[in-house]
Amino acid sequence: MTLNKRIKATRAKIGAVWVTPSMRDDFMYIVTEVGELGDELARMPGFLDVVPSRNHPRVTSQEQLEEEIADVVIMVTSLAIELGIDVDEAVDKKLRYLEEKFGQQLQLLL
Ligand SMILES: [Mg+2]
Repeated sequence: MTLNKRIKATRAKIGAVWVTPSMRDDFMYIVTEVGELGDELARMPGFLDVVPSRNHPRVTSQEQLEEEIADVVIMVTSLAIELGIDVDEAVDKKLRYLEEKFGQQLQLLL
């Protein structure tokens, strides 16, 4: 199942709980989720080269990082649905472009 279909199915199941009245709001949720991911990354030892402090009182967990990555992907896909973009197709298209453009160099980047 593609990401678009999976998220559409979840939207149908939870109905009004998932209220995204506009693409602008979808975009703001993406920004919020990226910020939350940044907060978790900042809690990774060595990520910011700082020791735990009042601003970063705890160390993150793999589960918390997984949750925030998922939130970002879900919100990006939700906006893509509103824009009529199939995320799997768009990512596949972009990866094919990068493979053709960079060839062997891409292997070094990924
Ligand atoms: Mg989140």
